[in-house]
Amino acid sequence: MTERFEGSFTQQEPIPEDGIEAAVAVMRHGRLHRYNLSEGELGETALLEQDFAAMTGARYCLAVASGGYALACALRAVGVAPDDRVLTNAFTLAPVPGAIASLGAEPVFVGVTEDLVIDLDDLAEKAAAADVLMLSHMRGHICDMDRLMAICREAGVTVIEDCAHTMGARWRGVPSGRHGLVGCYSTQTYKHANSGEGGLLVTDDEEIAARSILLSGSYMLYERHAAAPPAAAFDRLRWHVPNVSGRMDNLRAAILRPQLSRLSDRSERWAELYRAMEAGLWGVPGLTLVQRPEAEDFVGSSFQFLLLDWPEPTVAEVVARCAARGVELKWFGPEEPAGFTSRYGAWRYAPSVPMPRTDRVLAGLLDMRLPLTFDVEDCRLISRIIAEEVRGVRPAV
Ligand SMILES: *Cc1c(COP(=O)(O)O)cnc(C)c1O
Repeated sequence: MTERFEGSFTQQEPIPEDGIEAAVAVMRHGRLHRYNLSEGELGETALLEQDFAAMTGARYCLAVASGGYALACALRAVGVAPDDRVLTNAFTLAPVPGAIASLGAEPVFVGVTEDLVIDLDDLAEKAAAADVLMLSHMRGHICDMDRLMAICREAGVTVIEDCAHTMGARWRGVPSGRHGLVGCYSTQTYKHANSGEGGLLVTDDEEIAARSILLSGSYMLYERHAAAPPAAAFDRLRWHVPNVSGRMDNLRAAILRPQLSRLSDRSERWAELYRAMEAGLWGVPGLTLVQRPEAEDFVGSSFQFLLLDWPEPTVAEVVARCAARGVELKWFGPEEPAGFTSRYGAWRYAPSVPMPRTDRVLAGLLDMRLPLTFDVEDCRLISRIIAEEVRGVRPAV
């Protein structure tokens, strides 16, 4: 009998009960806008910022409307202007080049390695082309951050980190998002904390923090923050920084705070799922697992493997056969964007030159989410199905 997986790759866990209660309390009092506070009240949004700053060890934190908003806000705050070039990953999702394009700036794509991290040799070659790198820790894979920061320091490149997939992860013990000048996170439903939509931005830089807060739409109410620089930091800026409205509200913040306090437990559960997938696919001929460096403390909320140098139709057959058995694999090979998945050539507003080494990796790259509604048995079943189908259609070598 052929086994079939019946679970859903897009079903997240419910919001924890204390998050629901906190959200209901906000709805009962009606003060959803972050600056709508009663006497002496700080509000859920300011509290969330305080919590997240403490969690990441950052001096300043700002909560915003989405992860993509946080990225664009960071770019504006560091001074990226129209027609500037911004280095970024060729392997990432559309909101990253989209944030760059939203400022009228132009992405310069840097390749990906077989370990699914930014190609640091390619970065070293291209570093002179721009003043800013928007580094995407795509699918939770963290590159050698020591070498990356050395390359960028040497070339005078400012680093902004896209941590949409690394909230809670670390490199040599340092939280992801804390190597660069600014770290940006998403709290959209499919990330590590779920408020539907939402984003967070952290930095230790007083001026960047003040600019970001003004950009997000603080008006002259920036003193109602708890993880912000002192009011004096805003004096020189408040006449000059435009309001590009994108605040978070108290309802979403209320839902998020109890989730953040559970992030390390959830990361442990993700690690179990990830390890079960890895064990199940170990040693399958023709299938390459992604090496994870020892210095990387990752959150296994998704899983990738490679069918390197396989003919396209054969990869397509694996995808179709797995889908027929309930296993949804996302493939980065096809030129045509599908669902959330697209590749650098598909972003036609951002011209690029083909990168053969990157194209080779993307052509064989398969990706899946591991929602916490899965258990280890689910992962064993999913990996059995993938292993069987990969063995079944493997091309002659
Ligand atoms: C989701 C995502 C974003 C943007 O987050 P939103 O909150 O959806 O705007 C940025 N980068 C990557 C890699 C993402 O997956």
